[in-house]
Parts: sequence; structure tokens; C-alpha cells
Amino acid sequence: MGRVAIVTGGSRGIGASISKALKAAGHEVAATYGGNDEAAKAFTDETGIRTFKFDVGDYDACKSGIAEVEEAMGPVEILINNAGITRDAPFHKMTPDQWKAVIDTNLTGVFNMTHNVWTGMRDRSFGRIVTISSINGQKGQFGQANYSAAKAGDIGFTKALAQEGAKKGITVNVVSPGYIATDMVMAVPEKVREQIVAQIPVGRLGEPDEIARCVAFLVSDDAGFITGATLSANGGQYLS
Ligand code: NDP
Repeated sequence: MGRVAIVTGGSRGIGASISKALKAAGHEVAATYGGNDEAAKAFTDETGIRTFKFDVGDYDACKSGIAEVEEAMGPVEILINNAGITRDAPFHKMTPDQWKAVIDTNLTGVFNMTHNVWTGMRDRSFGRIVTISSINGQKGQFGQANYSAAKAGDIGFTKALAQEGAKKGITVNVVSPGYIATDMVMAVPEKVREQIVAQIPVGRLGEPDEIARCVAFLVSDDAGFITGATLSANGGQYLS
């Protein structure tokens, strides 16, 4: 059954794969992005999926952005909180700005988006929310105190909301990727990438489509009994 879905950061990387997978599953997809107009335009030209530009870290921008999507497409039944950034530094060098930017986007952004679809989902007694966390939120990562804190927070947030949404037909889950071959990871020097791959038991990076398929399953009607869960897709690198 086709539903209206918002994918934040849905125009690039993992988000772009999620947007395409949800479209292929028959959903009407709105892909949001933060600032890269060129990538968003190329994505729409390639896929026909509409894009909407607003900062997930800004509550009022999320409220009006979601209203714009709903006016164009109808009530949002699926929300994928995928937008995320890194601002890495060892903690003794981490600035308050680096901390705040990552918390604002990766954790508060999830609140801002979810809060603005929650009442509608409750009123209609149906919703599917999936947030993209990270292996580094589960195990911690040197140089990523900000990112690990935000991504671990996303998991706690999900477990709490799953309890609140259950009786209202809303499932709330996390997909937690390991290292995935997106621009971000492919940009690191080949030698470092080889060291990363050496730590992954399956011996390779993940593909964005492999994360997208997890998300597509969790939003499907088949997954109605799964809520509050964290689905790890990390090639065996971290077993929680
Ligand atoms: P990319 O950097 O390729 O894409 C990020 C997307 O998020 C872009 O569309 C970007 O918009 C959007 N975005 C960033 N900040 C904001 C903001 N403030 N408001 C709105 N949109 C924003 O990231 P990936 O595809 O690599 O990562 C996607 C998610 O998966 C992230 O949450 C990341 O933390 C997580 N993840 C990634 C892993 C990996 O190995 N790649 C591993 C584990 C988790 P724009 O195009 O305008 O910049």
C-alpha cells in the first residue's frame, strides 16, 4: 500500500538509496536536504522524487517544511530520520560548536521532525518511524564523542517513543549501519579505508542499498510487530 514518506537527507548517500527503495515499494516520497542544491536537483532529475530544503536542526523550519510536504502530498505516514553530519575531533580539541552542530542535527533534528508528525500519526492511528543511528553510537568511537552521544541518544529516544506509540499503531525503530560506501567513507585515504575494512568480518564495506532494504522492511506492513528495535547492519563488526 502506497503511503506518504519523508526521508531527511534523502537526496544523497544512504538517504538517496532509502528514498529510491521506498519509491520502488510504492510509496510517495519527499526527500529533504540541508543545502546542497546541485545534488538535490540531480537526484530529482534522476529519480523524479521531489526534494524539500530545510534544516532539521531548526524546529520551526521542520514544522513548515512538513506542512509544505503534507499540502503537496497528503499526511505523512512514514518518517525516516536519516540526515546526519560528523564534526570529528579528539575530545580535548572538540569545540562547543562541533558538539552543538552534531547534537543539533543528529539528535535534536530527530526530535524536531518526529514531534511534528507525531500528533498526526496518533490521530490517524498509524505511523512508521525509522531513525538511522550508527555502529559508533553503539560502541563509541575515538574522536566522535559528539557523534557517538547523538547516535546513542537516537536509540534511547526510539525505545521511549516505541512505548508511547504502540497503542496508537505507530512503530518506532532504529537501523544502525556499520561502515557504508558513501561519499563520506570513500573520501578517506585508501590506506585508512583498508584498515577499516580489515575490522569488518565480512571483509567489505556495506552498500547504501543494504541499509535501504532494512528500512523498507521496517516500514512495511509485514513489520507491524517490530517496535523499539535496533537493526544492526554492520557486517559483523559490532555484536550488540
Ligand atoms: P551524506 O553526508 O552522504 O548525506 C547526508 C544527507 O543529510 C545529505 O542529504 C544532507 O543534505 C543531509 N543533511 C545534513 N545536515 C542536514 C541538516 N542540518 N538539515 C537537513 N539535511 C541535512 O551522509 P551518509 O549517507 O553517509 O549518512 C546518512 C546517515 O547515516 C547519517 O545519519 C549518518 O550519520 C548515518 N551513518 C552513515 C554511515 C556511513 O558509513 N556512511 C555509517 C553509520 C551511520 P545536503 O545534501 O544538502 O548536504
